Amino acid sequence: MKKKAAVCALALTLAVLTSCGDSSSSSENKKNETPETDRETIYQVSLLQGLTLGDYNGSISVKELKQKGDTGIGIFEGVNGELIMVDGTVYRAKADGSIETAPDDETIPFANVTFFDSDEKQDISDISSIADLKKLLDEKVEKLGKNQFYMVRVDGTFKKMHARSELKQEKPYKPLAEALKTDQREFSWDNIEGTVVALYCPEYMKDLNAAGWHLHFVSKDKAYGGHVLELDVDKAELKIDCTQGFNMQLPDTEMFPTLDLTKDQSEDIKKVETKD
Ligand SMILES: [Zn+2]
Repeated sequence: MKKKAAVCALALTLAVLTSCGDSSSSSENKKNETPETDRETIYQVSLLQGLTLGDYNGSISVKELKQKGDTGIGIFEGVNGELIMVDGTVYRAKADGSIETAPDDETIPFANVTFFDSDEKQDISDISSIADLKKLLDEKVEKLGKNQFYMVRVDGTFKKMHARSELKQEKPYKPLAEALKTDQREFSWDNIEGTVVALYCPEYMKDLNAAGWHLHFVSKDKAYGGHVLELDVDKAELKIDCTQGFNMQLPDTEMFPTLDLTKDQSEDIKKVETKD
């Protein structure tokens, strides 16, 4: 009787795993030390809405973030550059578009990371805009389930990559849209090799993050990168990690309890995340 119960429990676990992409192909990247539940979770530091209101105070260190995932996107204390995490390394895209490895003691006000296990792969080519890439990704999500979270990697060559970063802000911090008006810097690179890391949040996340896609880029030689505003994919491999779990850590900053998070910030967020 006891044995039968164990068999049933195992079957249930498998059923849950296979409902979110093909789990069989994901085992190749797994590292033994991380439990399955942690690998299938998107970890989020704070709310994007806290950042957009000007809470640029870091609440988790780079070292701690690396224990929550190996792939992701975010921003640094004081909006001191765009964060992109690839293969367990946290990079900073600085205001001049150059990249440096972030020190372990640097703090982070907002980020999303996960342990990346590819559930689905596809070779892609000649996708001439970020809108077309998002359309392709939306089709995947529609098929796999639009109410889960996805982390995506696009590794390849880009005919064009247009990205932004921003100048470090000084206290008292202004709302993000205001800061970016004067302090956003944009860059374009032609025929560049590298990795795009993209996060998908379901529609119901619109009060805690931005619904839909958010893309960051780092070049293969780890020289250039930023928050992607536009791109043109030449040839690349697309990998999708579907995750069932979501874990959000509220920041312990002094400013956080004072923020007015009752207002819908969707329009402001659209403004700071996209080009037009
Ligand atoms: Zn970004």
